[in-house]
Amino acid sequence: MTFRASVLTLYPDIFPGPLGASLAGRALQEGVWSLESTNIRDFATDKHRSVDDTPAGGGVGMVLRPDVLAAALDSVADGRPMLALTPRGKPLTQDRVRDLASREGIILLCGRFEGIDERLFEGRPLEPVSVGDYVLSGGELGAMVILDACVRLLPGVMGAASSGEEESFEQGLLEYPHYTRPVTWEGRTIPEVLRSGDHAKIAAWRHAQAVEDTRLRRPDLIERHGGASQAPPSGARRNREEKQK
Ligand code: SAH
Repeated sequence: MTFRASVLTLYPDIFPGPLGASLAGRALQEGVWSLESTNIRDFATDKHRSVDDTPAGGGVGMVLRPDVLAAALDSVADGRPMLALTPRGKPLTQDRVRDLASREGIILLCGRFEGIDERLFEGRPLEPVSVGDYVLSGGELGAMVILDACVRLLPGVMGAASSGEEESFEQGLLEYPHYTRPVTWEGRTIPEVLRSGDHAKIAAWRHAQAVEDTRLRRPDLIERHGGASQAPPSGARRNREEKQK
């Protein structure tokens, strides 16, 4: 079944952009997912085709009109989750991505200028979502971030090698660090344990590294997962690592 993505934007031509390359691009060609980008301006009703107006209460910039955005949303709405990109939204997480990727598709509304009239969030089942605590100039890059994160989880897109189960965030931890050849590079050697062939020891070392890096770089993750993430690797995970060798 094809994962159907619809994007509402003032710049439909910039899609698929980077999503047309590599894994996501091949999956798009193969019909694993589809992408339709719709120009919000097509739903403007006045002769100037205006989509925005000055902020009520004063202030700088322009705000996207709710009537135009609602007409654009209604033209694609069919039960798929509808998300609007905004720094005022709930930050995107891998859990949310996993949930979205399991649906039949997704509708993404990209803001521009000062953003979206707040009444749209009351009048439509539209979830405000942020891609991080910084401000972009438009929602399009955020939409691409969400789509890329979803598409790589669709069945058949990633190789079996990275099922995603051990990746960063999947267990409330960052992933362990990776190494490859050459064994020695600029005087730095791959950690001895990774060359030991002792799979249980390697799994334990990787887990310890993941916990330590998460503690140093992202203490918020450990807090959020209540420390449960610090359990030793599961038997299933250890077995899989042994099989990969
Ligand atoms: N004045 C707004 C920012 C507008 S940025 C504010 O301070 O909240 C213009 C558009 O870029 C937004 O409507 C949104 O669609 C997009 N955007 C900017 N930063 C974003 C972020 N961190 N996450 C998701 N979308 C973002």
